[in-house]
Amino acid sequence: MRSFTFSFAADPHDAVRAASESPGNEVGARMPAQFLGGGTTLVDLMKLDVMRPGRVIDITRITGPRVRAIEVTRAGLFVGALATMRQVADCAAVRRDYPVLAESLSLAASPQIRNMARVGGNVLQRTRCAYFRDTSWPCNKRDPGAGCSALQGQNRWHAVLGTSEHCIASYPGDWAVALIALDATVETLAPSGPRVLRFAELHRPPGSTPHIETSLAPGELITGFLVPAGAYTRRSVYLKVRDRESYEFALASAAVALDLDGDTVRQVRIGVGGPVAMPWRAREAEAVLAGKPLTEANADAAASAAFAGAKAREHNAFRIPLGEQTLIRALMQAKAMEVIA
Ligand SMILES: Cc1cc2nc3c(=O)[nH]c(=O)nc-3n(C[C@H](O)[C@H](O)[C@H](O)COP(=O)(O)OP(=O)(O)OC[C@H]3O[C@@H](n4cnc5c(N)ncnc54)[C@H](O)[C@@H]3O)c2cc1C
Ligand code: SF4
Repeated sequence: MRSFTFSFAADPHDAVRAASESPGNEVGARMPAQFLGGGTTLVDLMKLDVMRPGRVIDITRITGPRVRAIEVTRAGLFVGALATMRQVADCAAVRRDYPVLAESLSLAASPQIRNMARVGGNVLQRTRCAYFRDTSWPCNKRDPGAGCSALQGQNRWHAVLGTSEHCIASYPGDWAVALIALDATVETLAPSGPRVLRFAELHRPPGSTPHIETSLAPGELITGFLVPAGAYTRRSVYLKVRDRESYEFALASAAVALDLDGDTVRQVRIGVGGPVAMPWRAREAEAVLAGKPLTEANADAAASAAFAGAKAREHNAFRIPLGEQTLIRALMQAKAMEVIA
């Protein structure tokens, strides 16, 4: 691990001030100062020499009523960025009113990691692309312009939606798939002041600059997430398919939230995870289902629409039918759910 300076932040302003005063913070720079949450992504990648921040600011001692809050109100659900994955997954109100969010967290990682990791750091986890994590391989995300080893390499774990010729890495997180389905917003404190952005605007497609993964400014701190209330949040499901039952990232996943009038879809929200370059909202699939009965045939048509733009590589074509089947199953599970009014 390279040398770096380390400090604790007492409050969000303190954290942002320390980060924005650090070297390497010019826009687009590869490694501005990093905030330390649970450290389950950051410390891992620092040990592998993939992330090399000159400064690390521990944000876990920040106090204040909102930073760890989990509040369900009429407007929706607010979750402070320093709440742990476990706290959100175990919250009874979240499990009742937003099961898709609770399930996406309880199916992620391991109990130990869920105890350590914060939801703010969770949405910013980095790809698990093996070439990115091993500095002996060329990788555009790590070293812009170096080339992409996965294009002609072992790309079973790589994305089929949202990729570019410069990077086909998949976004590995689960919670973000549920957040994007439910139209969440993100609250931040930037060096220029507080701001709110749609969760769908947080992650950037790889395009020709895969090393720039989000729209956050250097030194910008995520402070919380707001998930708007909706008639569809209680009838919601997160379905995750993986190589083994625990402690594994998604081969395919689907976050589905439904409002039904009998069998007919009044509203539906769909997020797709696994072989996606960034958290993925399947609006084409939603459009196929709106106003129609939720039958297997219509779910099948929606799943085909979700993956219509997919581009497979040598080893990952199986993830297209797997993703489609996962979405169909999630839709039918959500339909069959018993929802307490
Ligand atoms: C073995 C293993 C298995 C895993 N399996 C899964 C899985 O199945 N599903 C899944 O979703 N995840 C999985 N993960 C990933 C894990 O969930 C993330 O590493 C974790 O959620 C990151 O949170 P953290 O608090 O530890 O972040 P950190 O490692 O502390 O930070 C991650 C990044 O976010 C930045 N950051 C942290 N907090 C903030 C903030 N508030 N504002 C701005 N920037 C911030 C940091 O600077 C850093 O760049 C797994 C991880 C491991 C090691
Ligand atoms: S897929 Fe992306 S992260 Fe993986 S080697 Fe290629 S450029 Fe790097």
